[in-house]
Amino acid sequence: MAVRSADRLAGFGTSIFTEITALAVKHGAANLGQGFPDFAAPDFIKDAAARHIRQDHNQYAASAGVPRLRAALAAQWQARYGQAIDPTAEVTVACGATEVLLDAILGLVNPGDEVIVLEPTYDAYVPDIQMAGGIARPVTLRPPRWEWDPAELAAAFTPRTRALILNTPHNPTGKVFARAELEQLARLCVAHDVVVVSDEVYSELLYDGARHVPIATLPGMRERTITVDSMGKTFSVTGWKVGWAIAPPALTAAVRATHQFVTFTNSAPFQEALADALADGGAGVPAAHGYYDELRAAYAARRAQLTAVLEAAGLPPLPIAGAYFLLCDVSAFGFADDLAFCRHLCTDVGVAAIPISPFYASPARAPLLARFCFAKREETIAAAGERLKRLRPR
Ligand code: PMP
Ligand code: GLN
Repeated sequence: MAVRSADRLAGFGTSIFTEITALAVKHGAANLGQGFPDFAAPDFIKDAAARHIRQDHNQYAASAGVPRLRAALAAQWQARYGQAIDPTAEVTVACGATEVLLDAILGLVNPGDEVIVLEPTYDAYVPDIQMAGGIARPVTLRPPRWEWDPAELAAAFTPRTRALILNTPHNPTGKVFARAELEQLARLCVAHDVVVVSDEVYSELLYDGARHVPIATLPGMRERTITVDSMGKTFSVTGWKVGWAIAPPALTAAVRATHQFVTFTNSAPFQEALADALADGGAGVPAAHGYYDELRAAYAARRAQLTAVLEAAGLPPLPIAGAYFLLCDVSAFGFADDLAFCRHLCTDVGVAAIPISPFYASPARAPLLARFCFAKREETIAAAGERLKRLRPR
């Protein structure tokens, strides 16, 4: 029998993270590729999860999420940004930001609708749009400051534009969008009645005094924004897959309608653990104990270590303000493209990095950059440094 997959999967292939991770395992490479911490998660969050498993919080949680977690997420948002959020109607917990993004897009986009993405674009967004039958309209961010051309941005809005996907702090560039840039986006979205899906999974990872501004806090945006976040990066537990959406009731209804038939709910004990961490008087109370500042300080040190390693290898990174990746120009090494460079780097040099062309609608238009992740132990970054001494131009 000839098995044919559905047309909506056309061009999906294998994610670049899966490909490079497999190559890294095969060659025993120092893995600076896929973005995940290779160091221990904090004890307070692990102890909380273990406690909830032992206390038998092991059955289905409510579809929208454990109520006390939704209450804690709403309270955290209100404390930080001064906007009241109703946890019963405006917060939804799902299987990582990845599912929340799909739920939001499937819940909003009709076949033929256009969705603006800023490229380089995190690899899941365009397939999500495609699965909804929508059309991705990329607007290119130009290095080194990763700015859009205002005319190109304005021209991307058409009568068919349904949504815009924003990501700040941005993967893979490390850009943190400034308030003035977000205001420009907001004006266009209000004028064209466009919904923003704002992926803010790196909201706690900021450097050199950069400030994270959720676009939902700008005038006219709360009612048209789905803010997506996840505990993976903030608590160094990417394998736990607890993500959430904060959105006004009508947009939340769209997210929940999809979510109930995609996964219905996600892991109860991990949701409970996050609720403990965020609740006043809970087990961890990370804010009160300076957890977020410690996290940023530790990441700033890792960034400095990796910057030195890359500079020594002739790969000076572009400046970043957030997230946990550094981008390096690889054009001097004589490879046909960034993918060829990264395959060589992994196979022959023993260091895994991610090419950024898969983050572009037309990979041939991508600048020749490789992404190195510094969510890694000092030993991993040092081992990469040793191996990079072998890197030579072709
Ligand atoms: N969005 C961005 C920009 C990411 O980098 C990632 C993963 N690193 C995700 C979403 C997925 O988050 P999660 O693991 O919570 O699904
Ligand atoms: N978000 C991670 C990264 O950018 C990868 C997650 C995944 O493998 N899908 O590296």
